[in-house]
Amino acid sequence: MIDQDKKYLNTIRHELVTIVEPNIYYCYQCGKCTAGCPLSDVYEYQPNEVIRLIQLDKIASILNANSVYLCASCEICSSRCPQEVDIAAVMNYLRIKSWHYKQFKLSSIANFYGIFLRIVKIFGRSFEPLLILSLNLLNKNFFNDFDIAVKILKKRKIRLMPEFIKKRNEVSKIVKKYL
Ligand code: SF4
Ligand code: SF4
Repeated sequence: MIDQDKKYLNTIRHELVTIVEPNIYYCYQCGKCTAGCPLSDVYEYQPNEVIRLIQLDKIASILNANSVYLCASCEICSSRCPQEVDIAAVMNYLRIKSWHYKQFKLSSIANFYGIFLRIVKIFGRSFEPLLILSLNLLNKNFFNDFDIAVKILKKRKIRLMPEFIKKRNEVSKIVKKYL
């Protein structure tokens, strides 16, 4: 369970309603955001419910559910909102804060974030084979997506050797802040 430290939750809520999305209070629960969300079927709280919970000062409930961790940031919800509430930005912000405070609910997604950032820190960009291998090892799911990986490799959609970008030290410095 997410640690429900009051100060931490108050900080998040304050930043949400003052900086990230002051329009939150204009939401009148029409449900258009949820109707367009491709992941609403698997969410514990629907996008409109997330907004309602913020209005009701129940951030802990959101962080203890899977919704913000599964959000694909497709922004359909935000584009459909008649009140211009940027729901996708709210979801992103909550996920980032959760990572920042080491309170990530879903360990498999936290593992993905951690490995992805470390790979970008080393190479300056993503390197998918290492990402997949490391993730499977860490999650103890050794052959996860193995069949898909074979197909992708056969079509040469991903490289077997990493590419190093120029000035990757500068990228490393940025990434370090998030590790
Ligand atoms: S579409 Fe906008 S107004 Fe409607 S429920 Fe979602 S956030 Fe609220
Ligand atoms: S940004 Fe997230 S919450 Fe919004 S529609 Fe896409 S997946 Fe759903």
